[in-house]
Amino acid sequence: MEADKSKPQLAGVIGCPIGHSLSPTIHNFWLKKHKINGYYVPIDVSWENFNHVVKTLPKMGFRGVNVTIPYKENALRICDSVSDQAALIGAVNTLTISDDGTIHGDNTDAYGFMQSLIEGKEGWRTDEGPILVVGAGGAARGVVYALVSSGAEDIHIANRTRERAELISGDYGNRVTTHTLDEISQLVPQMGTIINTTSLGMEGKPQLAFPNNLLRPDTTVLDLVYTPLETELLRDAKRRGCVAIDGLGMLLHQASRSFSYWFEFQPVVDEDVRELVLAK
Ligand code: NAP
Repeated sequence: MEADKSKPQLAGVIGCPIGHSLSPTIHNFWLKKHKINGYYVPIDVSWENFNHVVKTLPKMGFRGVNVTIPYKENALRICDSVSDQAALIGAVNTLTISDDGTIHGDNTDAYGFMQSLIEGKEGWRTDEGPILVVGAGGAARGVVYALVSSGAEDIHIANRTRERAELISGDYGNRVTTHTLDEISQLVPQMGTIINTTSLGMEGKPQLAFPNNLLRPDTTVLDLVYTPLETELLRDAKRRGCVAIDGLGMLLHQASRSFSYWFEFQPVVDEDVRELVLAK
C-alpha cells in the first residue's frame, strides 16, 4: 500500500522526556521551507508503552520517527530490519516505515558527527594525529564508528567507567585503546583531535575536568554538548587557538539525514536553520 501523498505526511521524535527536544523545530522548519505537506510531532512515551506505540506508527500513517533518550538501544530490538551501522553502533536513532508497514532502523548520529567535524575544520583528515574520545556512552559509540569508518587508526577512549570503553574498543581491535579519565593529562598534548562525548558541560551538569593548559593550538576540539553552545572546554580551546566545534552541527546534520529517509530529499544545513535553533 503506497503512502497517500495528498494527506499530510507524519514524522516525529519518541523519547521521555521529550519537551526539551529541538527536533520538532528543525524538521517543521524544513517541511515548511520546502513546501512539504507534513508535520513532525514530539511523542512522549513511557517504558511500558514504547513497543506498542512504535508498532502502531505504521497504522497511524507515520513515514518515520527519530528515537532519543532513553530508547535508542531498545529501538534496535523491535525493528523488522536494521542497518549494519546501527547494529555495530548498538543504537537506532531513526525509524523508517515502508509502504508495507515494516520498520527499518538506522543511526544517523555517526553521519551527523562526521559532517560537523569536516565542516568545522575544513580539510580535517584522520591522519592529523591521534584522536581522543572522552566518554563511552551511546554517543561515543556513534563517534568511534564514524572515525573508524573514515579510516582513523589511532583512537583513544577515556571514560570514568573503563569497562564501558572496553566494550566499544572490543569491536575495533587495536585501532582503539582505552583509558581512565585520570590518564587524560598524559594524552592531551599528543592529540590531533579531541572530542567530548560525555554529558559533562551540559546545563545543570558539572564541567568536564580537563587540562586545558596542555592543549596544543593545532588540536581540533569538538564538544557534542549543545546546551550551552559554548562549553568551558570549547571556550578554553578557543583561547588556546584551537579550532573549536560545538554540538549543534552534529544535531542538524543527523536531522537532515533522517529527514531524507522519510521525505526523499535532504535539506541543506545552512545559517537559516542554525539561527532558528539558536533563537530557540
Ligand atoms: P550516555 O550514554 O548516558 O553517556 C554519558 C557519558 O558521560 C558516559 O561516558 C558517562 O561515563 C559520562 N559521564 C556522565 N556523568 C559523568 C560524571 N559525573 N563524570 C564523568 N563522566 C560522566 O549519554 P549519551 O547518549 O552518550 O550522550 C552524551 C552527551 O552527548 C549528551 O550531552 C548528549 O546531549 C550529547 N549528544 C549530542 C548529540 C548531538 O547531536 N550534538 C547527539 C548525541 C548525544 P560513565 O560511562 O562512567 O557513566
